[in-house]
Amino acid sequence: MNVIIFGPPGAGKGTQSEFIEKKFNLFKLSTGDLLREEIVKKTPLGLEITSIVNSGSLVSDDIINDLIEKIISNKNYENRIIFDGYPRNLSQAKNLNELLIKYNQKIHSVIRLKVSLDIIKKRITGRIVCSKCAKIFNEFFNPPPSNTTCCNSESLKKRDDDNIEVAIKRFETYGQSTEPVLKFYQKMNLVKDINGEINIESIQSNISDYLAVIEGWHYKITPYKYIF
Ligand SMILES: [Zn+2]
Repeated sequence: MNVIIFGPPGAGKGTQSEFIEKKFNLFKLSTGDLLREEIVKKTPLGLEITSIVNSGSLVSDDIINDLIEKIISNKNYENRIIFDGYPRNLSQAKNLNELLIKYNQKIHSVIRLKVSLDIIKKRITGRIVCSKCAKIFNEFFNPPPSNTTCCNSESLKKRDDDNIEVAIKRFETYGQSTEPVLKFYQKMNLVKDINGEINIESIQSNISDYLAVIEGWHYKITPYKYIF
């Protein structure tokens, strides 16, 4: 099963993709990780990437696509990849599609974590950290206990880096860049919306139930048809 996961910054995509990776024994393909790996290994491509990054430019789609092909063509990862943060634009999505066809694979499901901007704002602006015990709370979703001697108004601090303007900008950028990609997969009937505003465990179980069915269709029910 090959899965793509989408979600706006602050939606908990990282947590959920890690969960799916472990639960379904998939390989998590993150372009950031692939780029870092080349840089660390100092391969010819890695050296090229280093000079591009150092010059302040963005790594081209061609380079990203080469890295993706290395993984897709690897038999160890055949039909067991979760794509996290890729494809980012329509051209990458089309390229991915061609690569999958070339290696006789496909995308089985696209999970879209849906979280509204309002909730993301509250997750950010409501975050408070206890300066004594380092526990993290949220004044909207997870307020500190009232009967505590540690996490009280004196020790609770809002973090400085919780910049709401940046969060809004990132949310909007995400929406604009992923919309054409999602439309591409909607045409293929692959997009599954998952409510990302409920608690982490419930989100995990919703995703897990859904993907279990997808995996069942792919590996169990389909071969059955050929038997009869
Ligand atoms: Zn505390």
